[in-house]
Amino acid sequence: MNFSHHIPTRIVFGSGSLQSLHKQKLPGNNALIVISAGKSTRVHGSLDSLLAELNKAHIRFVLFDKILSNPIKQHVMEGAELARISGCDFVIGLGGGSSIDSAKAIAIMATNGGDYWDYIGSGTGKRILLGAKPLPIVAIPTTAGTGTEVDPWTVITNEESIEKIGFGTADTFPALALVDPELMLTVPPLFTAYQGFDALFHSVEGYLCRQATPLSDVYALQSIELVAQHLPTAVHEGQNLAAREGMALASTLAGMVEATSRCISEHSLEHALSAFFPSLPHGAGLIMISKAYYTHFAKYAVCAERMVRMAHALGCPQASTALDFVTALENLQQACGVGTLCMSDYGIKKEDARLYAQNARSAMGHLFEGDPVALSENDCVALYEAAYR
Ligand SMILES: [Zn+2]
Repeated sequence: MNFSHHIPTRIVFGSGSLQSLHKQKLPGNNALIVISAGKSTRVHGSLDSLLAELNKAHIRFVLFDKILSNPIKQHVMEGAELARISGCDFVIGLGGGSSIDSAKAIAIMATNGGDYWDYIGSGTGKRILLGAKPLPIVAIPTTAGTGTEVDPWTVITNEESIEKIGFGTADTFPALALVDPELMLTVPPLFTAYQGFDALFHSVEGYLCRQATPLSDVYALQSIELVAQHLPTAVHEGQNLAAREGMALASTLAGMVEATSRCISEHSLEHALSAFFPSLPHGAGLIMISKAYYTHFAKYAVCAERMVRMAHALGCPQASTALDFVTALENLQQACGVGTLCMSDYGIKKEDARLYAQNARSAMGHLFEGDPVALSENDCVALYEAAYR
């Protein structure tokens, strides 16, 4: 029962809460706003609302709007340069996980010299410790998926080395997370499903992880229950605010799981795929891997009790075996219209399974340490092959 618990992020949660931003204590006076290269924050008004709030609070700002859905190191370096020359003293990430993760990485590089990969702790990263505290971060998610608004992690792709690696320190927790479910009403159905399953797997993996704590378990089971209750409705009735609120809470709770426990190797296996195939949405990759992945772990007695409890949380009170969790997962995927995703649609090749397995184990090898049962390279190859279609 020995554990520590540290989530230093102030959370302001609720529909319409973006309109309260000007009343919040902000961590600086000159913001770099980080948004994606896509149109959604402009078209759906969240950027205008943010700018109006900053004007009311007399905060100066500059905009960096290049972030890709699988964010890359080059844009981290460019954003940090803009923050430095503009004299920014904090960074606001507005958007999905890619924008908020990039805001964190930019906050790091705005105050530290050299290259972002100098500080990365695995793969080809040089493992140098940060010399200076990153700029403070404000996170405003417009999707329900990553939970990055309440955890310290940022996941960035190095295109030259084909590595997608997570990084973070105690200083990359956002100072403020403003979670407004109204900003999520316009997310299209398929992306609502991908992002919702990402949140689900943060909780599922964190619950199975060897580093799980009694508090991360509470967040995880509650978040799994919320996903089961609300994700199908959020997918099929995007304007249903109650469903969006349920998913926003599920995602934030899952982020708290990531902050207090850890993701396990399912995330490493997915990051390898989206490092090679950047058009693959992270959540879609996780869904593709999940059935083979959890069927593998269902063979081991050490996982059984926890998998049964997760099946109960997914709304199957009669569940009694670990495989019942896999069935509940498949049923939820079908209910959300994502039960038949194919790796081949994204260019992934079955014969390259060993290449992906090696990438997963070198770039994101540390997540394997949390696995409830150790996975070998051959196990990873077999998982990719079993998941392939
Ligand atoms: Zn994820």
